[in-house]
Amino acid sequence: MLAKLSSSLVSSLPCSRVSQQASMCPNMRKPWLMKRMVYGVGTLFLRPIKTLRGDCKSFGVSQFLCNITSMASSLHVQLVPCLQDNYAYLLHDTDTGTVGVVDPSEALPVINALNQKNQNLTYILNTHHHYDHTGGNLELKARYGAKVIGFSKDKDRIPGIDIALNDGESWMFASHEVLVMETPGHTKGHVSYYFPGCRAVFTGDTLFSLSCGKLFEGSSEQMHSSLQKILSLPDDTNVYCGHEYTLSNAKFALSIEPNNEALQAYAAEVAQLRSKQLPTIPTTLKREKLCNPFLRTSSPEIRQILNIPATASDAKALGIIRQAKDRF
Ligand SMILES: [Zn+2]
Repeated sequence: MLAKLSSSLVSSLPCSRVSQQASMCPNMRKPWLMKRMVYGVGTLFLRPIKTLRGDCKSFGVSQFLCNITSMASSLHVQLVPCLQDNYAYLLHDTDTGTVGVVDPSEALPVINALNQKNQNLTYILNTHHHYDHTGGNLELKARYGAKVIGFSKDKDRIPGIDIALNDGESWMFASHEVLVMETPGHTKGHVSYYFPGCRAVFTGDTLFSLSCGKLFEGSSEQMHSSLQKILSLPDDTNVYCGHEYTLSNAKFALSIEPNNEALQAYAAEVAQLRSKQLPTIPTTLKREKLCNPFLRTSSPEIRQILNIPATASDAKALGIIRQAKDRF
Protein backbone atom coordinates (compact mmCIF):
# COMPACT_ATOMS: atom_id res chain seq x y z
CA MET A 1 0.00 0.00 0.00
CA LEU A 2 2.68 2.38 1.03
CA ALA A 3 4.96 1.64 -1.91
CA LYS A 4 2.09 1.64 -4.37
CA LEU A 5 0.81 4.98 -3.19
CA SER A 6 4.29 6.41 -3.26
CA SER A 7 5.06 5.29 -6.79
CA SER A 8 1.74 6.49 -8.15
CA LEU A 9 2.31 9.89 -6.61
CA VAL A 10 5.87 10.16 -7.82
CA SER A 11 4.90 9.19 -11.35
CA SER A 12 2.41 12.02 -11.40
CA LEU A 13 5.02 14.64 -10.72
CA PRO A 14 5.60 17.10 -13.52
CA CYS A 15 9.36 17.34 -13.16
CA SER A 16 11.99 14.67 -12.95
CA ARG A 17 14.20 16.32 -10.35
CA VAL A 18 11.52 16.35 -7.73
CA SER A 19 10.11 13.03 -8.83
CA GLN A 20 13.41 11.45 -7.92
CA GLN A 21 13.36 13.01 -4.51
CA ALA A 22 9.76 13.41 -3.55
CA SER A 23 9.07 11.95 -0.17
CA MET A 24 5.86 10.88 1.39
CA CYS A 25 4.70 12.54 4.52
CA PRO A 26 2.91 10.18 6.88
CA ASN A 27 0.14 11.65 8.95
CA MET A 28 1.54 13.81 11.70
CA ARG A 29 -1.40 13.84 14.00
CA LYS A 30 -0.46 10.68 15.81
CA PRO A 31 1.11 11.27 19.20
CA TRP A 32 4.85 10.91 19.28
CA LEU A 33 5.26 7.45 20.69
CA MET A 34 8.35 7.97 22.75
CA LYS A 35 9.40 11.30 24.03
CA ARG A 36 13.14 11.07 23.85
CA MET A 37 15.21 10.11 20.86
CA VAL A 38 13.39 7.15 19.42
CA TYR A 39 13.29 7.40 15.65
CA GLY A 40 11.83 5.47 12.80
CA VAL A 41 8.35 5.15 14.25
CA GLY A 42 6.05 3.31 11.88
CA THR A 43 3.11 5.21 10.46
CA LEU A 44 -0.05 4.11 8.73
CA PHE A 45 -1.27 7.12 6.80
CA LEU A 46 0.45 9.08 4.11
CA ARG A 47 0.54 12.68 3.23
CA PRO A 48 2.96 14.21 0.75
CA ILE A 49 5.59 16.76 1.51
CA LYS A 50 6.25 19.20 -1.29
CA THR A 51 9.69 20.50 -2.01
CA LEU A 52 9.55 23.78 -3.84
CA ARG A 53 12.68 25.22 -5.31
CA GLY A 54 12.11 28.91 -5.23
CA ASP A 55 13.68 32.02 -6.58
CA CYS A 56 17.33 31.07 -6.54
CA LYS A 57 18.91 34.03 -8.23
CA SER A 58 21.32 34.87 -5.44
CA PHE A 59 23.74 32.14 -6.44
CA GLY A 60 22.74 31.21 -9.91
CA VAL A 61 20.00 28.68 -9.28
CA SER A 62 17.11 29.49 -11.53
CA GLN A 63 13.53 29.38 -10.37
CA PHE A 64 12.30 25.82 -10.17
CA LEU A 65 8.92 24.94 -8.77
CA CYS A 66 7.25 21.58 -8.78
CA ASN A 67 3.88 20.64 -7.45
CA ILE A 68 2.47 17.39 -6.20
CA THR A 69 -1.11 17.38 -7.38
CA SER A 70 -2.52 13.97 -6.68
CA MET A 71 -3.16 14.32 -2.95
CA ALA A 72 -4.04 17.05 -0.52
CA SER A 73 -0.78 18.20 0.93
CA SER A 74 0.00 19.27 4.41
CA LEU A 75 3.56 20.58 4.53
CA HIS A 76 5.49 22.29 1.77
CA VAL A 77 9.21 22.99 1.92
CA GLN A 78 10.58 25.77 -0.27
CA LEU A 79 14.27 26.35 -0.76
CA VAL A 80 15.25 30.01 -0.40
CA PRO A 81 18.83 30.67 -1.48
CA CYS A 82 20.57 33.30 0.63
CA LEU A 83 24.00 34.96 0.63
CA GLN A 84 26.58 33.08 -1.45
CA ASP A 85 25.58 29.46 -0.92
CA ASN A 86 23.19 29.23 2.03
CA TYR A 87 19.71 27.78 1.97
CA ALA A 88 16.90 28.98 4.18
CA TYR A 89 13.79 26.80 4.07
CA LEU A 90 10.22 28.06 4.13
CA LEU A 91 7.82 25.62 5.75
CA HIS A 92 4.14 26.01 4.90
CA ASP A 93 1.42 24.01 6.58
CA THR A 94 -1.36 24.10 4.02
CA ASP A 95 -4.07 23.09 6.47
CA THR A 96 -3.62 26.05 8.81
CA GLY A 97 -1.56 28.46 6.72
CA THR A 98 1.19 28.42 9.32
CA VAL A 99 4.55 29.43 7.84
CA GLY A 100 8.00 29.05 9.34
CA VAL A 101 11.53 29.54 8.12
CA VAL A 102 14.61 27.52 8.99
CA ASP A 103 17.91 29.41 9.26
CA PRO A 104 17.20 32.74 7.55
CA SER A 105 20.67 34.01 6.72
CA GLU A 106 19.18 37.29 5.61
CA ALA A 107 15.70 38.76 5.63
CA LEU A 108 15.17 40.02 2.06
CA PRO A 109 15.05 36.72 0.13
CA VAL A 110 12.67 35.35 2.75
CA ILE A 111 10.47 38.45 2.56
CA ASN A 112 10.40 38.20 -1.23
CA ALA A 113 9.40 34.55 -1.08
CA LEU A 114 6.65 35.31 1.43
CA ASN A 115 5.40 38.26 -0.63
CA GLN A 116 5.10 36.11 -3.74
CA LYS A 117 2.49 34.02 -1.96
CA ASN A 118 1.09 36.73 0.26
CA GLN A 119 2.13 34.76 3.33
CA ASN A 120 2.83 35.80 6.90
CA LEU A 121 5.63 34.34 9.00
CA THR A 122 4.87 32.70 12.33
CA TYR A 123 8.09 30.96 13.30
CA ILE A 124 11.84 31.21 12.78
CA LEU A 125 13.82 28.06 13.56
CA ASN A 126 17.59 28.26 14.02
CA THR A 127 19.95 25.29 13.99
CA HIS A 128 22.86 27.28 15.44
CA HIS A 129 24.00 30.80 16.16
CA HIS A 130 26.26 31.56 13.17
CA TYR A 131 25.36 34.76 11.37
CA ASP A 132 24.73 33.00 8.08
CA HIS A 133 21.92 31.08 9.79
CA THR A 134 20.45 33.80 12.01
CA GLY A 135 21.21 37.06 10.18
CA GLY A 136 17.58 37.61 9.20
CA ASN A 137 16.09 36.84 12.63
CA LEU A 138 15.58 40.31 14.02
CA GLU A 139 14.30 41.96 10.85
CA LEU A 140 11.85 39.13 10.19
CA LYS A 141 10.75 39.10 13.80
CA ALA A 142 10.13 42.85 13.76
CA ARG A 143 8.27 42.72 10.44
CA TYR A 144 6.03 39.72 11.09
CA GLY A 145 6.03 39.25 14.86
CA ALA A 146 7.43 35.75 14.31
CA LYS A 147 8.61 33.69 17.26
CA VAL A 148 12.25 32.59 17.22
CA ILE A 149 12.92 28.96 18.12
CA GLY A 150 16.38 27.74 19.17
CA PHE A 151 18.38 25.46 21.41
CA SER A 152 18.25 26.18 25.14
CA LYS A 153 22.03 25.79 25.48
CA ASP A 154 22.54 28.47 22.85
CA LYS A 155 19.86 30.88 23.99
CA ASP A 156 22.42 33.61 24.67
CA ARG A 157 23.71 33.44 21.09
CA ILE A 158 20.46 33.15 19.09
CA PRO A 159 19.25 36.66 18.19
CA GLY A 160 15.72 37.34 19.40
CA ILE A 161 15.07 33.87 20.77
CA ASP A 162 11.56 33.40 22.23
CA ILE A 163 11.21 29.64 22.65
CA ALA A 164 14.26 27.71 23.92
CA LEU A 165 13.96 23.97 23.40
CA ASN A 166 15.97 21.13 24.92
CA ASP A 167 17.55 18.07 23.38
CA GLY A 168 14.95 15.38 22.75
CA GLU A 169 12.07 17.76 23.31
CA SER A 170 9.25 17.79 20.81
CA TRP A 171 7.54 20.94 19.62
CA MET A 172 4.57 21.42 17.36
CA PHE A 173 4.70 23.31 14.07
CA ALA A 174 0.97 23.52 13.43
CA SER A 175 0.01 19.81 13.51
CA HIS A 176 3.55 18.65 12.70
CA GLU A 177 5.65 17.31 15.48
CA VAL A 178 9.24 18.51 15.47
CA LEU A 179 11.91 16.70 17.45
CA VAL A 180 14.94 18.64 18.65
CA MET A 181 18.19 16.71 18.26
CA GLU A 182 21.34 18.05 19.87
CA THR A 183 24.04 17.63 17.20
CA PRO A 184 27.22 19.40 18.38
CA GLY A 185 30.59 19.40 16.64
CA HIS A 186 30.35 22.36 14.25
CA THR A 187 29.31 24.51 17.22
CA LYS A 188 28.69 23.39 20.78
CA GLY A 189 25.06 24.53 20.64
CA HIS A 190 23.98 23.04 17.32
CA VAL A 191 20.66 21.25 16.90
CA SER A 192 18.90 19.52 14.03
CA TYR A 193 15.12 19.59 13.61
CA TYR A 194 13.49 16.31 12.71
CA PHE A 195 9.93 16.11 11.36
CA PRO A 196 9.27 12.39 11.84
CA GLY A 197 5.90 12.38 10.10
CA CYS A 198 7.37 14.03 7.02
CA ARG A 199 10.63 12.09 6.95
CA ALA A 200 12.55 15.37 6.89
CA VAL A 201 15.48 16.60 8.94
CA PHE A 202 17.03 20.06 8.88
CA THR A 203 20.68 19.57 9.72
CA GLY A 204 22.14 23.07 9.46
CA ASP A 205 25.92 22.77 9.35
CA THR A 206 26.18 19.32 10.94
CA LEU A 207 25.46 17.05 7.96
CA PHE A 208 25.88 18.28 4.39
CA SER A 209 25.45 16.26 1.25
CA LEU A 210 28.81 14.46 0.94
CA SER A 211 30.39 16.24 3.92
CA CYS A 212 29.93 17.52 7.45
CA GLY A 213 30.49 20.91 9.05
CA LYS A 214 33.88 22.19 10.12
CA LEU A 215 34.78 21.48 13.72
CA PHE A 216 34.77 25.07 15.01
CA GLU A 217 33.75 24.38 18.59
CA GLY A 218 33.61 20.63 18.88
CA SER A 219 35.67 17.48 18.60
CA SER A 220 35.64 14.72 16.02
CA GLU A 221 34.10 12.50 18.70
CA GLN A 222 31.20 14.92 19.10
CA MET A 223 30.69 15.23 15.34
CA HIS A 224 30.81 11.48 14.90
CA SER A 225 28.25 11.04 17.66
CA SER A 226 26.01 13.71 16.12
CA LEU A 227 26.20 12.12 12.67
CA GLN A 228 25.39 8.71 14.12
CA LYS A 229 22.36 10.22 15.83
CA ILE A 230 21.14 11.58 12.48
CA LEU A 231 21.93 8.26 10.81
CA SER A 232 19.59 6.50 13.22
CA LEU A 233 16.67 8.14 11.37
CA PRO A 234 14.99 6.17 8.56
CA ASP A 235 16.98 5.80 5.34
CA ASP A 236 14.36 7.60 3.30
CA THR A 237 14.59 10.73 5.44
CA ASN A 238 15.12 13.84 3.33
CA VAL A 239 18.07 15.91 4.50
CA TYR A 240 17.85 19.69 4.21
CA CYS A 241 21.25 21.17 5.04
CA GLY A 242 22.49 24.71 5.39
CA HIS A 243 24.61 25.09 2.25
CA GLU A 244 24.86 24.17 -1.42
CA TYR A 245 28.35 22.69 -1.14
CA THR A 246 27.67 19.38 -2.84
CA LEU A 247 29.70 19.86 -6.03
CA SER A 248 32.94 20.73 -4.23
CA ASN A 249 32.23 18.08 -1.61
CA ALA A 250 31.91 15.50 -4.38
CA LYS A 251 35.36 16.34 -5.70
CA PHE A 252 36.90 15.75 -2.30
CA ALA A 253 34.89 12.57 -1.70
CA LEU A 254 36.00 11.12 -5.04
CA SER A 255 39.61 11.96 -4.24
CA ILE A 256 39.57 9.69 -1.20
CA GLU A 257 37.18 6.97 -2.40
CA PRO A 258 37.54 6.94 -6.20
CA ASN A 259 36.19 3.41 -6.68
CA ASN A 260 32.91 4.00 -4.87
CA GLU A 261 30.43 3.42 -7.70
CA ALA A 262 27.47 4.95 -5.87
CA LEU A 263 29.57 8.06 -5.28
CA GLN A 264 30.66 8.17 -8.91
CA ALA A 265 27.04 8.07 -10.04
CA TYR A 266 25.91 10.69 -7.54
CA ALA A 267 28.83 12.99 -8.38
CA ALA A 268 27.82 12.83 -12.04
CA GLU A 269 24.23 13.67 -11.12
CA VAL A 270 25.39 16.56 -8.95
CA ALA A 271 27.58 17.95 -11.74
CA GLN A 272 24.65 17.80 -14.13
CA LEU A 273 22.29 19.51 -11.71
CA ARG A 274 24.73 22.29 -10.93
CA SER A 275 25.53 22.78 -14.61
CA LYS A 276 21.83 23.57 -14.98
CA GLN A 277 21.95 25.75 -11.88
CA LEU A 278 19.62 23.41 -10.02
CA PRO A 279 19.92 22.63 -6.31
CA THR A 280 21.17 19.27 -5.07
CA ILE A 281 19.14 19.51 -1.86
CA PRO A 282 17.37 17.64 -0.38
CA THR A 283 19.48 14.55 -0.29
CA THR A 284 18.53 11.37 1.56
CA LEU A 285 20.18 9.50 4.39
CA LYS A 286 20.30 6.39 2.23
CA ARG A 287 22.35 8.19 -0.39
CA GLU A 288 24.61 9.80 2.19
CA LYS A 289 25.34 6.44 3.80
CA LEU A 290 26.51 5.17 0.41
CA CYS A 291 28.49 8.23 -0.63
CA ASN A 292 29.41 10.62 2.20
CA PRO A 293 32.99 9.97 3.40
CA PHE A 294 32.22 11.31 6.88
CA LEU A 295 29.64 8.55 7.25
CA ARG A 296 32.00 5.98 5.74
CA THR A 297 34.87 6.16 8.20
CA SER A 298 35.36 2.40 8.08
CA SER A 299 35.82 2.32 4.28
CA PRO A 300 39.07 0.43 3.56
CA GLU A 301 39.72 2.60 0.51
CA ILE A 302 39.36 5.86 2.44
CA ARG A 303 41.56 4.55 5.24
CA GLN A 304 44.21 3.37 2.81
CA ILE A 305 44.36 6.63 0.87
CA LEU A 306 44.50 8.77 4.01
CA ASN A 307 46.82 6.38 5.89
CA ILE A 308 44.32 5.86 8.69
CA PRO A 309 45.29 2.77 10.72
CA ALA A 310 42.75 -0.05 10.73
CA THR A 311 42.80 0.14 14.52
CA ALA A 312 41.80 3.82 14.62
CA SER A 313 38.31 4.52 15.89
CA ASP A 314 35.64 5.88 13.57
CA ALA A 315 35.76 9.20 15.42
CA LYS A 316 39.52 9.40 14.98
CA ALA A 317 39.12 8.56 11.29
CA LEU A 318 36.49 11.27 10.94
CA GLY A 319 38.92 13.79 12.42
CA ILE A 320 41.59 12.80 9.88
CA ILE A 321 39.10 13.01 6.99
CA ARG A 322 37.99 16.43 8.24
CA GLN A 323 41.60 17.67 8.35
CA ALA A 324 42.16 16.39 4.81
CA LYS A 325 39.01 18.17 3.66
CA ASP A 326 40.12 21.40 5.34
CA ARG A 327 43.37 21.22 3.32
CA PHE A 328 41.72 20.14 0.05
ZN1 LIG B 1 27.75 27.38 10.88
